[in-house]
Amino acid sequence: MSELDGLAPSTLAVVAGRPARVAGGPVNPGIELSSTFHAGGTASYGRDGNATWDALEAAVGTLEGGQALVFGSGMGAVNAVLDLVAVGGVVVAPTQLYSGTSARLAEWEAAGRVRVRRVAPPDTAGWQRAVAGADLVWLESPTNPLLQIVDLPAVSAAARAAGAITVCDSTFATPIAQRPLTLGVDVVLHSVTKFLSGHSDVLLGAVVTADGTLADRLRQRRSLLGAVAGPVEAWLALRGLRTLALRMERAQQTAGLLARRLLEHPAVGQVRYPGLPTDPGHAVAARQMTGFGAMVAFDVLGDAVAAQAVCSRTRIWSDATSLGGVESTLERRARWATESSDVPPSLIRLSVGCEDPEDLWRDLTEALAVVPAPHSSST
Ligand SMILES: *Cc1c(COP(=O)(O)O)cnc(C)c1O
Repeated sequence: MSELDGLAPSTLAVVAGRPARVAGGPVNPGIELSSTFHAGGTASYGRDGNATWDALEAAVGTLEGGQALVFGSGMGAVNAVLDLVAVGGVVVAPTQLYSGTSARLAEWEAAGRVRVRRVAPPDTAGWQRAVAGADLVWLESPTNPLLQIVDLPAVSAAARAAGAITVCDSTFATPIAQRPLTLGVDVVLHSVTKFLSGHSDVLLGAVVTADGTLADRLRQRRSLLGAVAGPVEAWLALRGLRTLALRMERAQQTAGLLARRLLEHPAVGQVRYPGLPTDPGHAVAARQMTGFGAMVAFDVLGDAVAAQAVCSRTRIWSDATSLGGVESTLERRARWATESSDVPPSLIRLSVGCEDPEDLWRDLTEALAVVPAPHSSST
């Protein structure tokens, strides 16, 4: 690990998780397709470990600054972390967060499995009060899909003082834009499906922690819950991760440009992007992030039908859920019954990819032309 000290993230994404340099040996890890291993060594059974996972974990762990564990999906990782909480335990969570995590918390709450306290993401004083007596503090920043920002250093310090474990779902940021472990968070979580793998071709998740005891507990959760990664998927994710910094650099730059232009567009209301100086989360984001990410959300000045029409008219942007691929996607989030009622019906979430920025803007403005001008809508 020490030969990687001091290297920039863009270098780490390329060099971490390589096999040892041996004359005649490969520069890439292999895809280890074996469910079982000869007795007497460190590897034993495929649900407990795999050499291809090890390579991906070395790379993700190095980027975040801890020990990584990969899972079969982001939700597999979410459930492993939630499973740390004993029956009757208290979880503090944001009022608005990824719909899958939110649904899982609601299920566990309804079943009496845990108690949940909810705090609005930007309400730092609210978080500081709510962490008293908590077991797990669930953070997500920026949030999916409203791009709200949690003050990670302030909330994690309060949670630590209260003896609670903190986890931050950092899927929207990636380690290029935010490193929660350096901000005081105990566990960082990713849907590797998204930006880390970056090509919309695998489902994977990861957790990273610098706390060895927590890592051991989470590894045991993975083995027992069974949400394990396929070696082929792990290999593809590592291949995608090699270009993470390049992809993020391009996509973030385009996202900032599109957000600024959307602010001026007559068919667009609120634009949510933490990189905009006018965004309510901007000041906190600027303190704790090293980039503002490639996700943007905006409200169409019209109803859900108009917003849906925009999504179905684009030719470069795909009207598709999920995010974080090299290809740009957009969707009207409220089309999902599971989405938070805080999400406006006409909100469109953009996942900005790596295409030419001007091509993306032209495609979007051509689609936005279907929205009737506000003053001419009364026929
Ligand atoms: C997609 C997503 C997840 C879930 O990950 P899967 O890989 O789809 O299981 C969790 N958190 C956030 C923020 C996400 O966007």
